[in-house]
Amino acid sequence: MDYDLLIIGAGPAGLTAAIYAQRALLKTLMVEKSLAGGKLNKTADVDNYPGFITIKGPELAEKMVAQAKYYKIDWNEGEVVKLTKKENKFIIGTNEGNIFTSKVIIIASGAIENKLGVKGEKEFTNRGVSYCAICDGWLFRGQAVAIVGGGYSALEAALYMSNIASKVYLIHRRNSFRAEKEIVEHTQNNPQITFFLNSLLTEIKGNREVEKIIISNRENQTEQELLVRAVFPCIGLLPFSNFTHELGIHDQQNYITIKDDCSTEVPGCFAAGDVARINENKIKQIVTAVAEGAIAAQSVIKYLEKRK
Ligand SMILES: Cc1cc2nc3c(=O)[nH]c(=O)nc-3n(C[C@H](O)[C@H](O)[C@H](O)COP(=O)(O)OP(=O)(O)OC[C@H]3O[C@@H](n4cnc5c(N)ncnc54)[C@H](O)[C@@H]3O)c2cc1C
Repeated sequence: MDYDLLIIGAGPAGLTAAIYAQRALLKTLMVEKSLAGGKLNKTADVDNYPGFITIKGPELAEKMVAQAKYYKIDWNEGEVVKLTKKENKFIIGTNEGNIFTSKVIIIASGAIENKLGVKGEKEFTNRGVSYCAICDGWLFRGQAVAIVGGGYSALEAALYMSNIASKVYLIHRRNSFRAEKEIVEHTQNNPQITFFLNSLLTEIKGNREVEKIIISNRENQTEQELLVRAVFPCIGLLPFSNFTHELGIHDQQNYITIKDDCSTEVPGCFAAGDVARINENKIKQIVTAVAEGAIAAQSVIKYLEKRK
């Protein structure tokens, strides 16, 4: 079936794009492989989305989905496995063998956090283990916390938590960091942050909630116990963009590169939310995902106007 717009992924970015597109009377299809609402379904409490002092993630998801469906959007419950462009048309193929075509496309397929793969990580997820310091850091105010990682996001999380936690341990498996000198120095000069370099977090322990972690020094093989109430693994995200590779719009980390208007290098192809990278300053939050969803939809409307 042929559409004006195909949206891949019904998380906050895709659902917002759907609301704007439907209100502009675009013939739109949403393709979602799993539970509509995206990562909101995996979030216990959302305390930083304007309009709600606190709301359960799945409840916010339900409200966003209901609003998108209010405009009678077409919906396919499939996984997009292939995306191509031929003669000004985008063609997607799903895992169930369905083929859909459109004039424009918005990729809003999100990303998943890399896991440490250590004992206790799964057991204590949402009970002290969190993959989002900006989201959950406040819950651990005045307590000792650990950040794991050595890239920009780990340093950023450590600096963020240094204003909230009583103590921040930064655990990194190498001796040097993968980030700009300025942020590295800023973190190193922060008296709240203690560094454990060349070290691995090997186990997370506790009763109902996180109480301590075991770290191991890679040089001398010694083990050490640290008392912490939270662990924030910041070892990167894996964007869901494999199906876009034929278009060549992804960067080295698999993020889709976008401009201010959420457009990509391929005319008619837009992206929004966690799967898209605009610059280093972007934060991966619900507010930014919905903002980009709205911008992408408005850019789609302008693009289609020009094509008339
Ligand atoms: C534990 C945790 C807690 C968080 N808490 C907060 C918080 O309190 N506040 C906050 O602002 N942010 C929070 N975040 C971040 C927030 O959830 C994300 O930034 C936001 O959900 C991103 O929205 P998105 O639409 O880009 O992607 P997602 O929410 O990831 O949605 C993407 C959707 O695309 C679908 N999809 C992927 N690939 C395909 C495919 N090939 N075909 C079809 N469908 C596909 C997925 O199934 C998914 O439904 C949290 C994140 C985590 C992990």
